[in-house]
Amino acid sequence: ATRIERHHYDVVVIGAGGAGLRAAIEARLAGKKTAIISKSLFGKAHTVMAEGGAAAAMGNVNSRDNWMVHYRDTMRGGKFLNNFRMAELHAKESPSRIWELETYGALFDRTKDGKISQRNFGGHEYPRLAHVGDRTGLELIRTLQQKIVSLQQEDKREFGDYEARIRVFQETTITELLLDGNKVAGAFGYYRESGEFVLFEAPAIVLATGGVGKSYKVTSNSWEYTGDGHALALRSGATLINMEFLQFHPTGMVWPPSVKGILVTESVRGDGGVLKNSTGKRFMFDYVPDVFRKQYAETEEEADRWYTDPDNNRRPPELLPRDEVARAINSEVKAGRGSPAGGVFLDVSTRMSADVIRKRLPSMYHQFKELADVDITKQAMEVGPTCHYVMGGVEVDPDTAAAAGTVQGLFAAGEVSGGMHGSNRLGGNSLSDLLVFGKRAGEHAASYADALTARPKVSTRDLETAVETALAPLERDGGENPYTLQQELQTVMGDLVGIIRRKGELEDSLVRLAELRDRVAKVSATGGRKYNPGWHLALDLRNMLVVSECTAKAALEREESRGGHTREDFPTMRPDWRRVNLVCSLDGDKVRLEHKPVPRMRAELIQLFDRAELAKYLTDEELAEFDALAE
Ligand code: FAD
Repeated sequence: ATRIERHHYDVVVIGAGGAGLRAAIEARLAGKKTAIISKSLFGKAHTVMAEGGAAAAMGNVNSRDNWMVHYRDTMRGGKFLNNFRMAELHAKESPSRIWELETYGALFDRTKDGKISQRNFGGHEYPRLAHVGDRTGLELIRTLQQKIVSLQQEDKREFGDYEARIRVFQETTITELLLDGNKVAGAFGYYRESGEFVLFEAPAIVLATGGVGKSYKVTSNSWEYTGDGHALALRSGATLINMEFLQFHPTGMVWPPSVKGILVTESVRGDGGVLKNSTGKRFMFDYVPDVFRKQYAETEEEADRWYTDPDNNRRPPELLPRDEVARAINSEVKAGRGSPAGGVFLDVSTRMSADVIRKRLPSMYHQFKELADVDITKQAMEVGPTCHYVMGGVEVDPDTAAAAGTVQGLFAAGEVSGGMHGSNRLGGNSLSDLLVFGKRAGEHAASYADALTARPKVSTRDLETAVETALAPLERDGGENPYTLQQELQTVMGDLVGIIRRKGELEDSLVRLAELRDRVAKVSATGGRKYNPGWHLALDLRNMLVVSECTAKAALEREESRGGHTREDFPTMRPDWRRVNLVCSLDGDKVRLEHKPVPRMRAELIQLFDRAELAKYLTDEELAEFDALAE
């Protein structure tokens, strides 16, 4: 029989980004024996790459800021499709979560009078992002890891063992959740290095696996973001919502091919960089939508004056919201006015002196020099949209982070969960989301484990199936190559379910995904179990595939354009669609899609908005209810 290492925990957290670490700390503080599992090295997660900061209405820089203003901004950003209760908890609890990080040893940048400094960001009415230079994510991860080490030191004192109550398993990939009836009983996976199998028996599991970007050809996401948590949730009976909503960041690298998609920070445009097409035209002036007309400059001269005199001039159109800029770049390329590598030009070399560029954008200078052999002080960069963040995810109870659907004992937090950001996420709201809902998930996973009278058991049969499924690609000879399949999947998603969507292409994508599903069932990997990336990818493929099917199906179903979902054939927002969440579940191995009403905002929350603003989003029926409240 195949050897399987076994471990027993009260709470198992899958994912070691911000959400996972915060959840694990909370479960351990509740006295639970907790494991943290991560696919990559400990400390290497998307959280560490975040630059801008964490949004929290502390009111340190502008005292008019408070949770109600943050709540409004978040709902507007998500075009009112957000789960209102999550947005409310997030706005109310973020400041405490940031303060708490300082008690763990974080040191945020300061205002002159010694308060935590806060910076401006798109969509936030007041300066709100707590930050540490442009390395906020690094400080967040560093601090959370340090807190874990300090808890381990306490356990060493008490039990003589650092890992008595909290242990990290890095480079360990979970491939299967195991159930006892409808209750979570454990998680099964393999060590990447040795290929040996491991079973974690636990009554409560927190998913904190991050995003899905690797299903797209062009993405800012790194290799491990294959939607594992989304797929694990689906296969255990949980549901996903809002999977049609993906955020495409307007500026990723497009050349050389090996680095295509790597993020080019928004600060490049914030500091004066301009976008040009192959004819040399600053094309963004042609793409200012009517709703934003008043706030954006109409001439290059006015736009240029804004950098030094923002009070008397309007913003350059390069600084429109991300979805607008990404769509504009896409249109220019499609119209044949793109750069040689299929993007557009982003130029700072003609805007600032070489010294200033190297000082203000040091990491961009090095990134282009080293990866593309482009000197951005002398040449323009080539950039294009890149798949960046998934708003959709595991449907959860807003207060407890418990997954919806038939499964019990499963919790989800961070990017893998859905609802919080509606159809579009504001910058900075992810880092705060991780802290708020990571904590809640850890707390409720712990109390769920406490309340159980009997421990769910992993069945031998289920374990054998998990082993067979994991070994299948190695035992199958002459099957499909995993890398070819991944490339084809990425092409289908990028070309047919990308930034601009059309009915015919979406229908086509579903046919192509069904074909790919048959081929993925026949995938084979050469070599053995010791460090074998081809085998790992073969196992990731089925996750990418099922998650992509949810996205394509939901994108076809939603006949409107809202936030991160743009339909060329239905170009406007439609109030009746705002009331609909599209919920994905699995029926056998078929993806099922259902309409479910978006939860109604409570009266005191809806009254935070003006009627005129609500009229842009709500149906007449909902407005009549609002009027009745106001009377
Ligand atoms: P992650 O930090 O993504 O961590 C996921 C963890 O799950 C990893 O440890 C991974 O190894 C593990 N995992 C995945 N699958 C498995 C499996 N099968 N088995 C075991 N472990 C698994 N947001 C902001 O708010 N502000 C910013 O400035 C910002 N900048 C960004 C810049 C870049 C380049 C990127 C890519 C994203 C940025 N974001 C930003 C978004 C934000 O960083 C992420 O949304 C957020 O960090 C996600 O955190 P998380 O804890 O949910 O997951």
